[in-house]
This record gives sequence, C-alpha cells and structure tokens, in this order.
Amino acid sequence: MAGMDEKLEGIYSDIVRRNAGEAEFHQAAREVLESLGPVLAKRPELAEMKIIERICEPERQVIFRVPWQDDSGEVHVNRGFRVQFNSALGPYKGGLRFHPSVYLGIIKFLGFEQIFKNALTGLPIGGAKGGSDFDPKGRTDTEVMRFCQSFMTELYRHLGEYRDVPAGDIGVGAREIGYLFGMYKRITNNYESGVLTGKGLGWGGSLVRTEATGYGAVYFVQEMLKARGETLDGKRCIVSGSGNVAIYTIDKLQHLGATVVACSDSDGYVLDEGGIDVALLKQIKEVERLRLTAYADRRPASRFVPGGNIWEIPCEVAMPSATQNELNGRDAATLVKNGCIAVGEGANMPTTPDGVKIFLDAGVPFGVGKACNAGGVATSALEMQQNASRDSWTFEYTEQRLAQIMRDIHRTCYATAETYGAPGNYVLGANIAGFIRVAEAMVAFGVV
Ligand code: GLU
Repeated sequence: MAGMDEKLEGIYSDIVRRNAGEAEFHQAAREVLESLGPVLAKRPELAEMKIIERICEPERQVIFRVPWQDDSGEVHVNRGFRVQFNSALGPYKGGLRFHPSVYLGIIKFLGFEQIFKNALTGLPIGGAKGGSDFDPKGRTDTEVMRFCQSFMTELYRHLGEYRDVPAGDIGVGAREIGYLFGMYKRITNNYESGVLTGKGLGWGGSLVRTEATGYGAVYFVQEMLKARGETLDGKRCIVSGSGNVAIYTIDKLQHLGATVVACSDSDGYVLDEGGIDVALLKQIKEVERLRLTAYADRRPASRFVPGGNIWEIPCEVAMPSATQNELNGRDAATLVKNGCIAVGEGANMPTTPDGVKIFLDAGVPFGVGKACNAGGVATSALEMQQNASRDSWTFEYTEQRLAQIMRDIHRTCYATAETYGAPGNYVLGANIAGFIRVAEAMVAFGVV
C-alpha cells in the first residue's frame, strides 16, 4: 500500500503498541491512515486537534461474561463485546457478530470501519460493533435463545435508541434479533422499537432491510460501471459467501441481467454455469440452515468443489461477500489476469492490503466495503426513522431511498478522490469523505 508521512507513521506505531495483538484492527486503521496524508496537508487544524488519534481510540469498550446452558444442561462460558467507537454523528450504530473467531481485534476493526461507513451514508449514526465468540453452528433454537438472553442481560444497560443501536452481522439474523429484542423489552419494560434494527416486519422492522446490504452493493457496482460507460447486463459474476449479503447480491445482480456462476461457504464453492438459483439457495441457507453441498445435491446442473478457491473462476465482476481477508494478492492477480473489470466488497475488509493494491494499480474499479456495503446500515437508519415516527414505509419507497443513498455515496467517493488527486480511487475517496464528516463534528464539539 501507499506510504505514509512521518506523522501518520508515528500515529500508526502508537496504535500497534497500544492495541497489541489486534491484527485486523491494525490493518483497518492503516488503510484509513494511508489515505489521510493529503487531508492533513490541507487542514493542519485537524492535526492540532489530534482528531486522528482521537478517532482511533474507542469512546468506550465493554467486555463481559456470557454464561449459558445447552440443551443437555452443560454450562458454557462465552465472551461478549461492545465497542462504542464514535458518537460524533449520532447514536452508536453497528451490528453484532456471533462467530468463534471473534475477539477484541475483530470487533475493533469492524467498529472502526463502521465509523466511516456510517458517516458516508449521510445519516445521523455513530459507529460501533459488538458480538461474541459464541458459535451458533449446530446449536438448536432454544440454545441460541438462551445465549441471546444471557448476552442481553448485560448488554441492555449500554443500549438505547438515543445511545447505541445494534443490528445483525455474521451469525446474527432475524432469529437472534428477535430473542435479543424480547429480552431487552422484558428487562426494561419499554417497547423501544428503535433500540435494535433488523427486526421482524410484524414488530417494528423495515421492508428492504433484509435485502439492503446485497442490493446496495450491487447499486454501487452499477454506479462504478456506469462511470466507465458499462452496465451489468450480460456480465459473468462471482459472489463469495452464501449468507444474507451474498444471497441478495446474487438476487439483484441477476435481476439486472448478470449471471452469477458461483458462490461459496467455508467448505468450498458451488459452480452453476446457468446462474445460481436464488430460490433454492434461500431455501437451503435460510429455511433449512444447511451447508452449500445441499445446493449441488438438489441441482444436478451444478457441482460443489470442496476446498476450491472461488477466485480462480474467470469472471468480469467479483463481489467478495463472505468475511475479512478472504481475497489475497494472488487471488487479485488471478482475477485481473482473467479479465475482471470491477470488484465490489459486500463483506467488511474481505480484500487483503496487497490485493487492494493490485486492483488499484491495474485500474480495476474497486468498491471498498465501507462504501459498497453501506446499504445495510443505511437501511437500518431508515428503520430507525420509521420507528421514531411510528410509521412503516412501502417496499418501493424504501428501496428508492436505499438506491439514492448508494448513488450519493458513489458520487461522494468519486468526487473526493478527484479532488484529492486520485481519480477513480474509491478507497481514498471513501476514507477521506467519511473522515472529514466525523472530524468536522468532533472539532465543533471541542476536546471531549
Ligand atoms: N453489520 C452490518 C454492517 O457491517 C450492518 C450494521 C447495522 O445495520 O447496524 O454494516
């Protein structure tokens, strides 16, 4: 990646020293810091106010014990986290991730990214993230319920519609949000709809929230292509992952005339040259909660490749939508060599720094996650608006709002990159535009 000036290198080495062992947080911070040199050159007052140092230090971090009992009565102890990173623009906002890989470094990288992502949406939300090293895989509904209840028994005291509003992320979907909301409501004796987003449609949820991250990511890619006189129609695409983001990314890509020939899970990928059957994928992943091998079993035209690397499949558009660091430098080089003309990150930080550099150097439009996948949290903010006004909007109206937000984010990133002398560099554009919005509010508030 690009170098940094001495001042930024100093800030970065302090971050590494003060947050030892948190590799993903270091990576996320470095990527943003590498973009900020030109901003400090233009706006020395931001350096004087130590805005970067302050943004890199969470406002508050909560770590708590989550004890629970499985169906056989065995006691388990997990660790819960909520990192309330920045509230300059609004109440803390960001998802909860339940996955065995979760530790403080993962939650901090996600919370840090969330600050800039949320700022880019233009909506009044601060940045946070939380979760647990609980592994929902193979757990029954009642086990998940007891875990969520125990988790909320501590977390509730840090939440509130004006304080901190969690949502889902990996391992946290409508089922978990239901159990979490039920427990919050019971403890507080308040029907406070706006305290969580991603709720069910019958109890305060918003239409389009389920689809929003995937749909939004595709709108962003559509805008990147449009800026180069291209469209998605007829394009051959690869979408990694097979969770919520991947499913609705595939759905929208195919709706717009593209063909998605592969998706994946942690065991391998499924290749389906005729285009992924979204209804079947939803049935397997969302209804039956099965692995992707079940998709290939039921669709003879497709085949499952165990342990396969999805990025080796030639495609024109790649949308990494599984998890962090799933696409490395070698994968990026393979994609470029195979004729990939656009990359849109549906996941958070799925491309490693050397992968990002390869796409940028090759001039492949690269939609960085904090811009490209902002549609999810943007629609969460629309859910909060509906909750605050005790209203519910139609699917069409909500989707129009989402599409407009994604077009605005694209325009902002594009224009900012140009202003700062790096035309077409959405990484630089997103980092600078998001940073400036937060920094200006922090300057206005003084040293607090
Ligand atoms: N977890 C999602 C993200 O990475 C959504 C967060 C939210 O809706 O609050 O942005």
